[in-house]
Amino acid sequence: MKDLNQVIESLRGPMTETLARWIKIPSVKADPLPGAPFGAEVRRALDAALEDAAAMGFEVRNFDGYAGDVRMGPLGVDPIAILAHLDVVPVGDGWQQDPFGAEIIDGKMYGRGTSDDKGPAVAALYAMYALKLAELPLNREVRLILGCDEESGWGCMDYYAAHCDMPKVGFSPDANFPVINTEKGMLGVRLTGAYAADGLKVKEIKVGERGNVIPGLASATLCGDEVLCAEANAAAEKLQLDVKAEMENGLVKLVSTGIPGHAAFPEPARNAIGQMLLVLRELGVTGALRTLADCVGMEYDGKSLQIKCQDEVSGALTCNMGILRYNEQDGLFATLDIRYPILADHKALAASLTAAVAPVVTATITRQTDPHHVAPNSKLVTALMSAYADVTGDTQSQPMAIGGGTYAKVLEEGVAFGSLFPEEEELAHQAGEYINLNSLLNNLAIFVKAIQNLQN
Ligand SMILES: [Zn+2]
Repeated sequence: MKDLNQVIESLRGPMTETLARWIKIPSVKADPLPGAPFGAEVRRALDAALEDAAAMGFEVRNFDGYAGDVRMGPLGVDPIAILAHLDVVPVGDGWQQDPFGAEIIDGKMYGRGTSDDKGPAVAALYAMYALKLAELPLNREVRLILGCDEESGWGCMDYYAAHCDMPKVGFSPDANFPVINTEKGMLGVRLTGAYAADGLKVKEIKVGERGNVIPGLASATLCGDEVLCAEANAAAEKLQLDVKAEMENGLVKLVSTGIPGHAAFPEPARNAIGQMLLVLRELGVTGALRTLADCVGMEYDGKSLQIKCQDEVSGALTCNMGILRYNEQDGLFATLDIRYPILADHKALAASLTAAVAPVVTATITRQTDPHHVAPNSKLVTALMSAYADVTGDTQSQPMAIGGGTYAKVLEEGVAFGSLFPEEEELAHQAGEYINLNSLLNNLAIFVKAIQNLQN
């Protein structure tokens, strides 16, 4: 047996080189092609990863371009799954580096997918390689499952589960350390209503593209003159909201500036739609917009929707209005993204909010996902927590609850585990995404320990 720490340290260079090659493949979802259900580049990323794994001497399988896996140890024996993904979200604006350049500056590699989720995937692969090189015995199979559609529809995991046996236990390094053992449930809601015939005449509102994004900017056009424009500015001032009105092409244009964010983490954000609704109410808006101002406004706890609740294990319910469209032809359309605590009853929540907005606004549930929880004293959570504490020395951090959903949910007993450390900044899906290469090596070391701790 070789010294494990020496083996790990020796993998720093090769792992960095492998990650750079993976980052240079722009694996953003695209139109399907034969053998490439999520586009040619995603397929190329999967092929590259499986070729690398095969060259290390592992058993690899490609599930028709949907997903792949890398296996070691006694195959079929009580497998431990590590779930990661190779697809990335589109680049977006604001990059100062080449988003597919894998440039290294001050010990950090920059690029789309470095932290979400190719970095963690590479670290998991090299953790397996370290165990192999150190010739450490395994009495359970270790299986790295590489998905290709995590950022959109999870079609990869559906396909994988349908074509082979899904392990029962495992972890997904696609969030934060130490362990996320609780993921809230999710409700997607569509709100519709008629165009108001009386009161303030709102010509058009068109805000937001995605329900899970807290909009940082919202605008509306109102039929009116300079008097209304002045009233709107006075209303915003009175309510102390960052909303400005000015005349544009004979209409009053309202612009609301908030702080953008993710629906699952509303605390640091400020919803620009909510601010605008409150100003519109002050100006005398009626009908469906008035109902939304009264029932949602700037609240993210669901209080006026009569769904405010929390529990000790998973925290408080959150509610976000991510999209709002309104005009004379189509009436009102809006969405709510609700993350509910594990002990809440989603049917009761749906009934309460539907009653709260009725009869002016109609609420329809468009999506529901169950919450997910693994006991903090389970073998899985304790094994992972101790691997994390061993490598980092951090014995204070506790298992956490989040509002988001990771691949961990596809396992009967699965948790998110890494890869971002508590003190690190979250740049997934943003410009300038990077991974600290020391953190990457720590990920590898933690995964090695975790796999060892999970042996029978
Ligand atoms: Zn991810």
